[in-house]
Amino acid sequence: MSDCIFCKIAKGEIPCKKIFEDGEMIAFHDITPMAPVHFLLIPKKHIQNLLALEPDDAGLAGRLLLKARELAKELCGEDGARFVINAGRNGGQSVDHLHIHILGGRALGWPPG
Ligand code: AMP
Repeated sequence: MSDCIFCKIAKGEIPCKKIFEDGEMIAFHDITPMAPVHFLLIPKKHIQNLLALEPDDAGLAGRLLLKARELAKELCGEDGARFVINAGRNGGQSVDHLHIHILGGRALGWPPG
């Protein structure tokens, strides 16, 4: 997707505050943090959102979750984290490229404010 901002970040065409990168995913700090720790983990492959995930993406999806867990433990500490995946307009998704929000660093209320 040539006009997708997260594809551009994945290709290094737009700068980001990078936390982690390998061949298939990249994690970077959210530009508008909603908590003391707030970063995004995305696949480099353009997948619109979780609702567009295909069975062939199962391996990638599993590795993304395991990396989200690993990075949350590193960056959010031992008191836990929140993992959020918005999908579609009613889900509050503003960037149409699958991403996991990982937030922490303080107690986060529920429902989210
Ligand atoms: P969502 O509303 O779930 O689609 O979340 C998109 C997130 O991407 C928002 O929290 C934005 O602050 C974040 N965002 C948008 N552009 C950038 C960018 N260039 N670098 C980092 N985060 C971004």
